[in-house]
Amino acid sequence: MHAKILDGKAMSLELREKLARRAEKLKEQGIVPGLAVILVGHDPASEIYVRNKEKGCQEIGIYSRTIRLEESVSQETLEAEIEKLNADPAIHGILVQLPLPGHLDENRALRHVLPEKDVDGFHLINAGSLMTGVPGVIACTPKGALYMIKSTGIDLTGKQAVVVGRSNIVGKPMAMLLLRENCTVTICHSRTRNLAEITRNADILVAAVGKPRFITADMVRDGAVVIDVGINRADGKICGDVDFEPVSEKAAWITPVPGGVGKMTITMLLENTVEAAERTAYGS
Ligand code: NDP
Repeated sequence: MHAKILDGKAMSLELREKLARRAEKLKEQGIVPGLAVILVGHDPASEIYVRNKEKGCQEIGIYSRTIRLEESVSQETLEAEIEKLNADPAIHGILVQLPLPGHLDENRALRHVLPEKDVDGFHLINAGSLMTGVPGVIACTPKGALYMIKSTGIDLTGKQAVVVGRSNIVGKPMAMLLLRENCTVTICHSRTRNLAEITRNADILVAAVGKPRFITADMVRDGAVVIDVGINRADGKICGDVDFEPVSEKAAWITPVPGGVGKMTITMLLENTVEAAERTAYGS
């Protein structure tokens, strides 16, 4: 078998065209969707992410504002900036670029973002909404990954889904989304025993580990859908958590890195921002 590629670039292009039309419609109502990004310090990877987000906003007609704060900023100043954005009607989405410098309390900062402006879906209210099955903002990376899984057209009901990684921003919300789709979900982590035995049972395998080419072909079932969330640098190149070439020989569908989930993450951020502006315009 040679896997079909789940092309995040092509899917994003199509989705962004639709988002641009929705943003246009909002403008007819006098509302320009607005996204504010708070960037603390000068982490090079964060700088790249923020630039990509600004570019994405421009592409579809979202107003974007980047608030740059010094590395040494206090918790109080950071939270005061968030409060200002909470109160600003031109801003529908607020994103605090992570990671924050070590002296800042990330969870405390994220709790200051109004849940309805929390376009990252990291606020406790939004995480809890996903957990309990009520509407809320869904975290961008798992939301994009689920979109890609669904694009295969495979009926997810009753499928064995294995998520490797249990972070609050990827692994756990991904597992919740797959559960909502009636998959039977297993979450694996660094203390999981016999990992390969578990992953070999997966109809849907999501890797969110942060280790280059960690998922090897012997860990993958023939015909599986393999979603590679990882973004790693190895030998001077970007690669995922999946050993792409050999795994492609076994899987039925696979996401590439780059050009896979990463691209969709930003698209979902844009979608969450447009949705937040639509809630302002039309009510929820
Ligand atoms: P974290 O470091 O927060 O989580 C990694 C998870 O992998 C942890 O749950 C950890 O287990 C688990 N893990 C580590 N080693 C093993 C192992 N040997 N066996 C099984 N599980 C293991 O990372 P994130 O969730 O934030 O990110 C994961 C990857 O996805 C990274 O490469 C990151 O760069 C990328 N990423 C990509 C995004 C995109 O847009 N495509 C967005 C966000 C992240 P434990 O909990 O026990 O420590």
